[in-house]
Amino acid sequence: MKFGGTSVANIERIRNVAQHVKREVDAGHDVAVVVSAMSGKTNELVAWATETSPLHDAREYDAIVASGEQVTSGLLAIALQALGIQARSWQGWQIPIQTSEAHASARITGIDGTELIKRFKERKEVAVIAGFQGIHEPTGRITTLGRGGSDTSAVAIAAAIHADRCDIYTDVDGVYTTDPRVVPKAKRLEKVAFEEMLEMASLGAKVLQVRSVELGMVHNVPVFVRSSFDKPEDIDPHGTPPGTLICSEEEIMENQVVTGIAFSKDEAQISVRQIEDKPGIAAAIFGPLADASINVDMIVQNVSEDGKYTDLTFTVPASEYNRAKDTITKAKDKIGYKAMDSATDVAKVSVIGIGMRSHAGVAAQAFKALSERNINIRAITTSEIKFSLLIDAAYTELAVRTLHTLYGLDQA
Ligand code: ADP
Ligand code: ASP
Ligand code: MG
Repeated sequence: MKFGGTSVANIERIRNVAQHVKREVDAGHDVAVVVSAMSGKTNELVAWATETSPLHDAREYDAIVASGEQVTSGLLAIALQALGIQARSWQGWQIPIQTSEAHASARITGIDGTELIKRFKERKEVAVIAGFQGIHEPTGRITTLGRGGSDTSAVAIAAAIHADRCDIYTDVDGVYTTDPRVVPKAKRLEKVAFEEMLEMASLGAKVLQVRSVELGMVHNVPVFVRSSFDKPEDIDPHGTPPGTLICSEEEIMENQVVTGIAFSKDEAQISVRQIEDKPGIAAAIFGPLADASINVDMIVQNVSEDGKYTDLTFTVPASEYNRAKDTITKAKDKIGYKAMDSATDVAKVSVIGIGMRSHAGVAAQAFKALSERNINIRAITTSEIKFSLLIDAAYTELAVRTLHTLYGLDQA
């Protein structure tokens, strides 16, 4: 059972979580719980680190931000004990949850679940685990898994203790066709394939961290997204509560062509104008960006009319915008371009569905619908089960709603 920030936002909410855990314990299950920091806490800790020094040591950043989860794990253990349930808190290093050394975005490399399993067997003890954090054993330093990383902690723990299921309790009762906060008509999905969820998460649906979906897919852990706001006493632990199961494709009988729509405003566009249309130009632009570890997403190159000059447009995460511009400016002599334009008021809207594999013309419908709304498309990328469109950020909500209606998701 994993509980996110809003689910443990204060002591009353933590007591509510304890009731959810008690219900499962009373039903005879062995339970490991993973908790996030209280909502807003991690942001506050990040801000403190930045205020102290904008360019700070990533090892100390991790020491600071990992503290939020330490607090909630202890609090939940106490709340459970107060209900007469055996419970013990665990920090990442105590289990240990081993990770890479990439501070602030570490990857889990191994978890030893033996001690947790032993305690289930011997004492029926609930393990309350601080999410988001781990340890890089060779250096002995605390690491964190990147924002939203408690989801990943939970799925990794579930795999390590051979759990039947990993329940992600959050502030919505499942995965919706799009963010329900933006499109009130969004509908809850019964089941979503791992691959689709991977696309939705990486294209902006932050309900699950991308890495948690990857782990669920690799270790075949069924992940169930549900609400901690459903009253604990109303839930039958043996019944099927409202929620969304993320599972393998084979378990989904009927596929819609389009499953969901994701969007992200965290994008920036850079256009390099009047570059010579000759071999090696893409390498001259993207080589230095790769060397600077800047992730390039969409790329559009015009076919030049005269065979001499062309334009090349690409997108990077908004957080890398300034670095990307600097990198291109520094490589100006090698690239040999005339001008560089850029924009940060852009958004990426993506349409996702496994059914697209076997249907033609899905994207074409979107182009038409958006043009009827006078929404200009700046760049397009496609893959087997999704396509993404770059548009002006001001039109994000309109575009998402238009596409949601277009693909019949309003009445899904
Ligand atoms: P937690 O603190 O529990 O980890 P998050 O804020 O990380 O919760 O994730 C839940 C939020 O994800 C929801 O409140 C919702 O606004 C957002 N969200 C974005 N896209 C979707 C979607 N397709 N389905 C459900 N929620 C979504
Ligand atoms: N508390 C961390 C964050 O806000 C991890 C998480 O909640 O998943 O990013
Ligand atoms: Mg989250």
